Amino acid sequence: METLASMLRSARARFSEAGLDDPAGDARVLITGLLGLSATTLVTDPARPLGAADIERVEDAVERRLKREPVHRILGHREFYGLKLRLSPETLEPRPDTEILVDRVLPYLQRIVALRGRASIVDFGTGTGAIALALLSQCPEADALGVDISTDALETAAMNADTLGLAPRFRTLKSHWAEDVSGRFDIVVSNPPYIVHAVMKDLSPEVQLHDPEAALDGGADGLDAYRALAAAIPGCLAEDGVVGLEIGHDQRESVSQLFAQSGFALIEAVKDYGDNDRVLLFSRAG
Ligand code: GLN
Repeated sequence: METLASMLRSARARFSEAGLDDPAGDARVLITGLLGLSATTLVTDPARPLGAADIERVEDAVERRLKREPVHRILGHREFYGLKLRLSPETLEPRPDTEILVDRVLPYLQRIVALRGRASIVDFGTGTGAIALALLSQCPEADALGVDISTDALETAAMNADTLGLAPRFRTLKSHWAEDVSGRFDIVVSNPPYIVHAVMKDLSPEVQLHDPEAALDGGADGLDAYRALAAAIPGCLAEDGVVGLEIGHDQRESVSQLFAQSGFALIEAVKDYGDNDRVLLFSRAG
């Protein structure tokens, strides 16, 4: 008879044999996520018997993981900033490093609210809606516009907003960066594609095969999206607004320069958990 513990052991062994980075973690998250169990069930009820349908679901998911589909793609959702977000084919799986952007933008958002009683946010390349929805969840006085070029992403972001009860304060707009955006916003955030095109082929199969290329590929020098944003943001940011961007580990200088040319001064540069430059914050210079 298969139990929770025996299924877990066998998944772990197969993941380990296949050389996955974190066989134990993947097995745990995949199986508990799939069966809707909390992680503590593994400790409190390891002998829990699994029925035929559950065994089949787990086996199917294990096969998918062995083909390098990421755990959270298989589950169809991932937690970001404490919010459960649904994923879809054209949305990037939110990364923990991006939570740093939310953390660092939040104090500025709150200062604007203290000043004006409300604040507006625009998130370029919103994907699952991760950054905008995390900010809204922390700041009831804010509203946000999620911009994306992908209809699939906008539908997913809107669905996530709805599930989280944030829909009344979240709108979506299909636009290539700011082309169809009108009005000015207090906060501009973005985690744009920033990987140098030539490096795309070196990404892990999990990322290369399952994260959308449009959310990753930053063109020949990785800076295409920042060029577009640096040109567009002056036209859609409030005078005292703040810009928060995720960047690649070696883009601090280049992105700062692009934004300096557009009249912005760097106000904060933040490293990620791996000690790489990851987040830049700008305001208008002078
Ligand atoms: N951090 C992502 C990765 O390493 C890249 C995300 C992006 O290009 N915005 O795969």
